[in-house]
Amino acid sequence: MPDNLKIMKSDFSYDLLIIGGGISACVFASKYLQNNISKKIALIEIGRGLGGRSSTRTSKRFKGWKLNHGAPNFNISNSKDNLLLKNYINELLVNKFIKIDDSELISLGDEKKLESIKKSNFYCGDSYLSSFSMGELSQKIIELSNLRDKIDLFFGTLIVDLKFNNNGWILTSNKGDELRSKYIICSTNLLLHKRSLKILNINQIPLRKAIPKNKDKNIDLLLNFLDKQSFIPRLTFLIYTNEKYRYKDFYSKKYRYFYLNKSLEDKYKFERVIFQLQENNKLGIVIHTKNKDFINSYINRRDEEFFKQLIFANFNELFSNNNSVNQLTCNEGISIMKWRASQPSGCAVPLSLQLSKKYRIGFCGDWFEGEGFGRIEGSILSALILEEKFKNHLNKI
Ligand SMILES: Cc1cc2nc3c(=O)[nH]c(=O)nc-3n(C[C@H](O)[C@H](O)[C@H](O)COP(=O)(O)OP(=O)(O)OC[C@H]3O[C@@H](n4cnc5c(N)ncnc54)[C@H](O)[C@@H]3O)c2cc1C
Repeated sequence: MPDNLKIMKSDFSYDLLIIGGGISACVFASKYLQNNISKKIALIEIGRGLGGRSSTRTSKRFKGWKLNHGAPNFNISNSKDNLLLKNYINELLVNKFIKIDDSELISLGDEKKLESIKKSNFYCGDSYLSSFSMGELSQKIIELSNLRDKIDLFFGTLIVDLKFNNNGWILTSNKGDELRSKYIICSTNLLLHKRSLKILNINQIPLRKAIPKNKDKNIDLLLNFLDKQSFIPRLTFLIYTNEKYRYKDFYSKKYRYFYLNKSLEDKYKFERVIFQLQENNKLGIVIHTKNKDFINSYINRRDEEFFKQLIFANFNELFSNNNSVNQLTCNEGISIMKWRASQPSGCAVPLSLQLSKKYRIGFCGDWFEGEGFGRIEGSILSALILEEKFKNHLNKI
């Protein structure tokens, strides 16, 4: 967790508040800090650190391990050669925050290796790896511009209510604290989407409550689009292998990805198996699944031990004759992460609805339209575009 973590008091007041600490929020904050050195800003995140769905699991139980349990890397297509995105990726490369990901990609299920994988939207264009863990990448992105310690970071804090009056926004946290700000940025759509009703146990979508219908056409449109957006749930299984677990061959790169074709995915329920070499030379394995029946049976059965054994059994059968992967002994450590909403799907929100000047609120994240929809590419690009719009708006007032 970054050093400048603040303890919340009830009378915090800011120029700008950012809700969420995923990569889009961090990119936005970083660019904003470069252009607004005198402003007071804060970022509020319910998790323990930065990164959101591209973060890294560290735990007391499995000391020393850093497993990327959401996005392991990211790919940039940028087929329209957007300069904002191109220059930003270059900036990350020049700062050595990321590097080209030349890890091995193996398609399980057919003889051809790369061809079928390239069709996946996670592997088109150029792939990049964080030079650190994925969570640390978000942290570095903010630190790069936070030279004057201008941003307050609040972790473990869930915003549950939004209010707007003529002086600006009042945000209420789950602990009852109030934060005030002239402008806000929502980098998550939780407070804008009907899933918030169940998750927060409320009876009106927070943004709708703050800005009633017919007050702002763009906000109405944004909420309509989001009403049609759904989400792909995922489970990730994190395997902390035994001390001596290694590959059969001499592969030494940090990552190795195995991608299952449709028939193998149906049989074993695995979408991807990602090997992640740790700093201490141990070999972590992260398995993703998005098979609906499998996820539902996990939720209904509530028997972690049963699922752990099932995962080991499926893994060993899948890799039984593999030239590079060894069998697991089944007494390896394993933890499970449930992503209720790993990726938006269906209806994407038009970028033209990103900023409401009247209500001093901006939006970014992977839920906006474009070829990066549902991916880090979309998160980064939407944050860069929003920051430009915001800058132009501030210059005019
Ligand atoms: C298992 C998995 C695998 C993936 N694989 C890939 C991949 O290979 N390539 C790729 O490009 N993308 C991948 N993705 C998608 C990618 O992770 C996301 O597109 C990207 O991380 C989204 O970033 P974001 O900043 O838009 O949103 P988020 O990362 O979701 O950030 C939003 C943040 O807001 C916080 N938050 C929400 N509501 C509140 C509130 N009310 N108060 C306070 N905090 C709040 C959340 O905790 C979260 O940290 C994957 C995702 C998952 C889960």
